[in-house]
Amino acid sequence: MSLHDLLAAQIAANGPIRLSDFMADCLLHPEFGYYTTQEPFGASGDFVTAPEVSQMFGELIGLSLAQAWVDQGSPSPFALVEFGPGRGTLMADILRATKGVSGFHQAAQIILLEASPNLRAIQGETLRVYTPAWIDAVDQLPAIPIFAVANEFFDALPIRQFVRDGSGWRERQVGLDNDTLVFGLGPDSPQPALAHRLEDTKDGDLVEECSAASPIINTLGLRIKHHGGVALIIDYGDWRSLGDTLQAIRDHEQVSPLDQAGQCDITAHVDFEAIANAVPCQYSRVTPQGVFLERLGITQRAQALAQNMTEDALHSHIAAHRRLTHPDEMGNLFKVIGLYPEGGSPPAGLEK
Ligand code: SAH
Repeated sequence: MSLHDLLAAQIAANGPIRLSDFMADCLLHPEFGYYTTQEPFGASGDFVTAPEVSQMFGELIGLSLAQAWVDQGSPSPFALVEFGPGRGTLMADILRATKGVSGFHQAAQIILLEASPNLRAIQGETLRVYTPAWIDAVDQLPAIPIFAVANEFFDALPIRQFVRDGSGWRERQVGLDNDTLVFGLGPDSPQPALAHRLEDTKDGDLVEECSAASPIINTLGLRIKHHGGVALIIDYGDWRSLGDTLQAIRDHEQVSPLDQAGQCDITAHVDFEAIANAVPCQYSRVTPQGVFLERLGITQRAQALAQNMTEDALHSHIAAHRRLTHPDEMGNLFKVIGLYPEGGSPPAGLEK
């Protein structure tokens, strides 16, 4: 049995399924899901995320969070939270970089939101000395100040896709052609949640919607509003996207999302407009990752680290700096938005 066989049987019995249901099973099916069964990250995995490119990414995020914590009066206790921590590399770098911030570690309760038992075990190994706690859902966050980061978490939340048809929409579905999974379109139906997209689309245009993101942002933002803290949300995407951004990656190559259910990473661009609309506290301007990291001093940090490097290590360090910041690499594709309380300031690296 494979995920493909399971989904094919389900579709044969009950008809086509929503893309969001397909994506949820592909990523997190308890037995066959990609995050539940594989270790996707790093050069030997399927893709490389920013914290896996260089330790500088996590160090600068850590300093931004710690600066916000000091600016808000060093509250104790507080929750140091990561959404979707992967291998735990980002949190490990945050913690190493903030060791010298007086009282920060003592006041921190480290909380990881992670759905995959497999990745929880790896995170537990990476962060063994820090005794993190795991939660299954954002509403389990404690009622204390929250200093949070999410890198490439929201892009993994299931999306739905709709194709404009007059003033209605037809949902893109996953169906079956003989034994092959194929895309198709459902019947025309009104979509009140897409009313604002009638203004910038024409017949045949495809738009995406991630209904799982808003309640998470809302709950996180309410904690920050009532108890203080900040959140840094980093992901690829833009302010309102248009067109099909669904992407499947295996072994660093793009593959068809339907061909290898559960065997490849499936993500979609994050719609930062939808994120901003769901924020119940203050939020910063959406800022390109390269600009954010430059403002936090990545070049100075890169130069300091380079002092002790030669040859191959130096070469890959320079490439990593470029990869994180250059507009042709991750610098512009990835964006950052910060959440902060009323009357507070955006986290370092971001502006109102
Ligand atoms: N932040 C890490 C990993 C990004 S991959 C990095 O930058 O390297 C996405 C992460 O989010 C994985 O850890 C995955 O298991 C987790 N994840 C995806 N969907 C989730 C969900 N609905 N709830 C909790 N965790 C989820």
